[in-house]
Amino acid sequence: MAITEVNLGSQAVPCRSQGRLASNIPVLFFDVDDCLYPQSARVREASSDLINRYFENHLGLSKEDTIRLREEYYKNFGLIVEGLVYNHKIDPLQYNSMVDDSIALDSLIKPDPKLRQLLQDIDKSKVRLWLFTNAYVTHARRVVRLLGVDDFFEGVTYCDYARVPLVCKPQAKMFEEAMRAAGVESNTDCYFVDDSFTNCRGAHEFGWTAVHLVEEGLPTPPSQASQHQIQSLEELRTLFPHFFKGNNEFLSTSHL
Ligand SMILES: [Mg+2]
Repeated sequence: MAITEVNLGSQAVPCRSQGRLASNIPVLFFDVDDCLYPQSARVREASSDLINRYFENHLGLSKEDTIRLREEYYKNFGLIVEGLVYNHKIDPLQYNSMVDDSIALDSLIKPDPKLRQLLQDIDKSKVRLWLFTNAYVTHARRVVRLLGVDDFFEGVTYCDYARVPLVCKPQAKMFEEAMRAAGVESNTDCYFVDDSFTNCRGAHEFGWTAVHLVEEGLPTPPSQASQHQIQSLEELRTLFPHFFKGNNEFLSTSHL
């Protein structure tokens, strides 16, 4: 199942069952990997090497089988670890410690002042910020701390590798869990940014407003995954100007 923690500091408190009090303030959910940092950080490549090593060393598979099964699991399950759990009964937490938690993130991800400024400019009385990842919480925490933006997010909903079967994006249950945890009742109050086509398509179908991040230079899908497609998180400023400080569009409109 999915699980959530609120507050990303050292006092993080699991809130698996209670969730937050519902509020009428919309929530902007951010994916973590290849979304908060660019693909040029090469985290995906580092992860890929460790996944290959796991397949070959831990499962005793050949290089050819590793390539074939990785593709098969990703295609059929959307998350390689899901395929490993289903077909090989592996321990997802051990996998996480040998793959995601073993990535040398310190050498790949640096503090990002531009991202920090973007998040700083968002008016938290107009929209609340929440992390929403298919990685495990240890990885999500490391990423936002290295980027220097961990203080902007109220909480994180992540794939709980301690509980099988795994629940992850784009399963409806995962979107439901994120809403419950973030304390938002209406699908129309949920905004979401992710670099994954399938996750954005899933969010869109679930009734959220989804923004597909397709970095400049990467191939664009033949048809959009969801309502919006952007090349940079900076475009959120023009896409949702009412979420940013200094923009009183809604206030002035209400007086007309
Ligand atoms: Mg991603």
